[in-house]
Amino acid sequence: MGWSEERVALLRKLWTEGLSASQIAKQLGGVTRNAVIGKVHRLGLAGRATPSRPAKRPVRTARPRIVGPTAPRMRLPSSVPHVIIPDLEPVRFADGKTATVLTLNESMCKYPIGDPADTAFAFCGRASSCGPYCQDHARLSYQPSQAKKRRVSEPDELRRMVRLAAM
Ligand SMILES: [Zn+2]
Repeated sequence: MGWSEERVALLRKLWTEGLSASQIAKQLGGVTRNAVIGKVHRLGLAGRATPSRPAKRPVRTARPRIVGPTAPRMRLPSSVPHVIIPDLEPVRFADGKTATVLTLNESMCKYPIGDPADTAFAFCGRASSCGPYCQDHARLSYQPSQAKKRRVSEPDELRRMVRLAAM
């Protein structure tokens, strides 16, 4: 069976509608799938995307977009232990006073407590067992990292106060 005007028109129609070559062959009758494909090529219709073989999409060069954080979150150094400095009250003597630079002696803890600018500032005054400090404050003094850094200025402050008291 040849390609009459009518059949070619039908072929075009069915092809543009998206039917496969074998479906068109069936519809037309009397032609093989291969004949349909051949005709389609000759008619220059071959560019159609057939359902059986989807046209290639333009190759994506862009990487799939990653939604959300692009990198694992950097862990902030929250693992640095928070050093809780026990609220040790300075020792009060029988007269209610606390240790000052004047009353501190070798056997007393020289750990400063409070804000040196504050009148409530005092030294610990407990019996010193580890160097200049009592047990509790000695332990604090050897805390790693942050606590240590924070306390670096304190001996300086202490020396300054001692100097001031000596004047
Ligand atoms: Zn102490």
